[in-house]
Amino acid sequence: MNRTRVLRVAIDTPLRHLFDYWEPTSAGRHAAQVGVRVQVPFGRRRVVGIVAGIAAEPAIAAAKVRAASAVLDADPLFDTPTFEMLLWAARYYHHPIGEVLAAALPVALRRGAALDEIAASWRITASGQSEGLAATAKRAKRQHELLARLLNEGPASAHSLTPWREAVRELAKRGWIELVEQPRVAAPARPVQVANGPALNPDQQAALAAIEATLGTFAVHVAFGVTGSGKTEVYLRAIETVIARGAQALVLVPEIGLTPQLLTRFRERFNVELAVLHSGLNDGERFSAWRAARSGAARIVIGTRSAVLAPLAQLGLIVVDEEHDASYRQQEGFRYSARDLAVTRAQRLGIPVVLGSATPSLETLANVDQNRYRLLRLPTRTGSAQPPVQRVIDLRAHASEQGLAAPTLVAIGKHLGRHAQVLVFLNRRGYAPALFCTSCGWMAPCRHCDSRMTVHLASGRLRCHHCGAEEDIPVVCGSCNGPVKPVGQGTQRVEETLARMFPAAPIVRLDRDAIRRKGEMESAFERVISGEARLLVGTQMLTKGHHFPDVTLVVVLDADQGLFSADFRAAERLAQTITQVAGRAGRAERAGEVLIQTEFPHHALLTQLIEHGYEGFARSAIEERRQAGWPPFSRLALLRAEAGQMSDAEHFLAGARRAAGRLPKDIELLGPAPAAMPRKANRYRAQLLVESSSRSALQNFLDGWIPRIDELQRAKVRWSIEIDPAEVF
Ligand code: ADP
Ligand code: ZN
Ligand code: ZN
Repeated sequence: MNRTRVLRVAIDTPLRHLFDYWEPTSAGRHAAQVGVRVQVPFGRRRVVGIVAGIAAEPAIAAAKVRAASAVLDADPLFDTPTFEMLLWAARYYHHPIGEVLAAALPVALRRGAALDEIAASWRITASGQSEGLAATAKRAKRQHELLARLLNEGPASAHSLTPWREAVRELAKRGWIELVEQPRVAAPARPVQVANGPALNPDQQAALAAIEATLGTFAVHVAFGVTGSGKTEVYLRAIETVIARGAQALVLVPEIGLTPQLLTRFRERFNVELAVLHSGLNDGERFSAWRAARSGAARIVIGTRSAVLAPLAQLGLIVVDEEHDASYRQQEGFRYSARDLAVTRAQRLGIPVVLGSATPSLETLANVDQNRYRLLRLPTRTGSAQPPVQRVIDLRAHASEQGLAAPTLVAIGKHLGRHAQVLVFLNRRGYAPALFCTSCGWMAPCRHCDSRMTVHLASGRLRCHHCGAEEDIPVVCGSCNGPVKPVGQGTQRVEETLARMFPAAPIVRLDRDAIRRKGEMESAFERVISGEARLLVGTQMLTKGHHFPDVTLVVVLDADQGLFSADFRAAERLAQTITQVAGRAGRAERAGEVLIQTEFPHHALLTQLIEHGYEGFARSAIEERRQAGWPPFSRLALLRAEAGQMSDAEHFLAGARRAAGRLPKDIELLGPAPAAMPRKANRYRAQLLVESSSRSALQNFLDGWIPRIDELQRAKVRWSIEIDPAEVF
């Protein structure tokens, strides 16, 4: 007798286990296998799950096992190495497997759409050749270009024509192009035909040779070089070799780094299909890009964080650009580091990964020290000379005008007078960080958070930057009815001050209030690069991507925010920010100047950074971490709880602590303690930090502990665990 098999199914729920179902009995369209989707009854609903295992016997009483309704796929959704990486990630990050797999799937597939639903491409029709080409030649340039391309190169996938949407619609309406079903492509349809790049300088050649020598084996390369040192050029050359050999390349970029310029650079260089995966896509676009990655039709996949979870059957190289960037961490739900998963993925596949940065994370540099990662230095900006001169301005020693010290103002005037551009960095948006009562010292608080309201003068509102609460700016103090005034500086106030002091210099401000859409950032950058704007004021947004060759002076308005934080990563972030901002500026003919304003000019971190650069800073910061036993010299996990009352959150964590029982000798628990901002959006937050000197000891402990936390009484409490947390206070 044929026994029915048991499918172990991952379902998108917060439960940390698989669910058993009998294989569908009626002969369906497809046979069940690991990695395919199945439709199953779940409570009263019918849901889509993924078969993660197949067993002969159920893990629960056979009478309770229900039958799956249908198998939805002929083939597994993920190639085996990708699927195994996802299963591994669920274990390592201690996150429910169903949610991990759901995070890796486009919405359409989670809902049960057929994988082949829109495998279509556009081709030119007979009338398109006889009439269309001539008819569009004069009056519709873009339509004409597309017709000519389809004629010369053959059909193009609907997905690859996303930038041509308008033209496609018009041409289809006239019957000059038509949709044809396209079988899945396994190999590049067209030759790579690479446009030539510039001749590489010796450092680039050495870096490229090192990467190419490891194709087909696991290796981690750290491309260490400032913006403009030619890192991207090295990636492009390595990718060229990889796709010429028939493999795919995956390029991860920070959220804000996926610019039209970058995509244009790839499109101009390679005549192969490119899939782009980022959070701004609609469901249909995401689905087709994901399929192009999976089928191999896309030879290059460029994406933000979650692209590391996408299946690429023939992956041969991974690049993680700006590897230190905070946007590689998913901070909600399935909390993972895309940079770390990229390394794990490369290791499992036996392929190289390149981590690029001007300011590599201390973890990465520590791995270089231990000879686990290889350092590829790109020390010079292509075609240029000396690094900028950095100087500290002691805020206590000089008069200042709204946060701009007298020597800073003199320097700005001098550089503007030489027709150069000046960049002023301040990581605080709004007009002023607080509204202050001059008679009793009251500061307008947020009603929902343990924080102050930020003054937004232009809109006449106070806003909380933590929960989004807003109210009108009050005329008098909320406590004593005394007079109130904005204190401190935000980017809007700095813009106002600069406009007053330098009325002839047009200003561009870059922060989340000024730039709401992607296009606005591009046009702001355009005003800077064209030279129209002379002064550039902005937040963290300034530290990404663009190089501004005519900026010769960079001012860091307030370095002190990062110097005295309790978080062990704060100093690293400050050094990265200062270095990245400084790196935006200058070119060969004009040496750049960087002024760092501080009240602590002799702080060891600042002097290290100024005298020895980022690498010198990193050496001593790594040494500090070693002595203090912080990562990477220890391993951390952070258990967070939040509730409507602080006592509920703390009570839950105290229970979790007791549930740990007697601790293994390599495990330490710190807390429970309130979070750095205990109340946020009316929720009270507390945490318990787990520390160990060894990764495996930590994992063993969590394997035993988390199921016990799952069983705790936790009415009214929401909790989560983060492995290798980015911030611990
Ligand atoms: P990064 O990625 O480090 O910022 P890029 O690769 O974008 O650097 O290079 C900066 C600029 O210099 C680009 O315009 C690029 O085309 C150019 N470039 C890169 N390498 C060379 C080279 N060897 N010769 C001439 N120009 C180069
Ligand atoms: Zn008052
Ligand atoms: Zn708030």
